[in-house]
Amino acid sequence: MTPEGLVRHLLREHPGRVAVLSSFGAEAAVLLHLVAGIDRAMPVLFLETGKHFPETLAYRAALASRLGLRDVRDLLPDPALLAGLDPDGTLWSRAPDQCCALRKVFPLDAALEGFDVLLDGRKRHHGAERTALQAVRQEDGKLRVSPLALWDSVHIAAYRAEHDLPDHPLFARGYASIGCAPCTSPTRPGEPPRAGRWRGTGKTECGIHHTPSRNDNNKALT
Ligand code: SF4
Repeated sequence: MTPEGLVRHLLREHPGRVAVLSSFGAEAAVLLHLVAGIDRAMPVLFLETGKHFPETLAYRAALASRLGLRDVRDLLPDPALLAGLDPDGTLWSRAPDQCCALRKVFPLDAALEGFDVLLDGRKRHHGAERTALQAVRQEDGKLRVSPLALWDSVHIAAYRAEHDLPDHPLFARGYASIGCAPCTSPTRPGEPPRAGRWRGTGKTECGIHHTPSRNDNNKALT
């Protein structure tokens, strides 16, 4: 089944219960373009951590407008947890797993109450824990689906060019994968796309997917 066929099938089987998670990062335009071609009203979930690059927020607005996305939603951290655990906004530097749990894992878990299926843009070519990524998975009673799991950087670039999709402004400055500003650096030639994320810390995932990182994060706040 093609990525488009897979998304259409999921929408038929789960009407009104499918959302797409997007970071509006380096490769986000491809999945969002594919989704917009099927249903512009599909909810697009954006984890608004308060730590994004200004370029990401500008790109989010421009891309949503260009693709005609009608329902982009900000998922925000719980204000009481934020005030109690990260009053000065520097938790990322002391305990990044806690920071990701607070700003990403918990808000996403709360938002998923309303959906059966979550699409995401993860791909095997990102490396590390994603090398063995399954395109369709069952997690906590939800379907987690990565329609582009098998696409590599050449395929992604060709799709972007074919549809004249705008690049994230930081892509041309060497950012192959883009998350929160304090935890993202450019990649060097020959490095895997996510090498600039949490560089030098050993952390490779934020924990919103079912990976060892997620388990560590959940423990971090419980
Ligand atoms: S990526 Fe960094 S700043 Fe963003 S939530 Fe995780 S630790 Fe915090």
